[in-house]
Amino acid sequence: MILIFGTKRKFKNLGALENCHCSRCNNTSDWNFMEYRDWFTLFWIPVFPISGRKEYLECPICRQVYDVPKD
Ligand SMILES: [Zn+2]
Repeated sequence: MILIFGTKRKFKNLGALENCHCSRCNNTSDWNFMEYRDWFTLFWIPVFPISGRKEYLECPICRQVYDVPKD
C-alpha cells in the first residue's frame, strides 16, 4: 500500500483593517487580516494541524505582509 502524505497551508480571511498606510507601495487602503495554519495531509486530505494559527496583515495592492500589532 502506498501512502501519499504531505502538508498543506490553509488560509482564512478574517476581515479587513481600514485605512492602513503601506510603507512599501505608499498607498493607504484596507488591509486584509489573514490567518493560516499548516496541516498534515493524507491523500491530499487535511487530517490534523501541525502548527498553531498564525495571523498577519497584507497590503492588497503590493502584497506586502506585516505582523499583527499586539493590541
Ligand atoms: Zn503596499
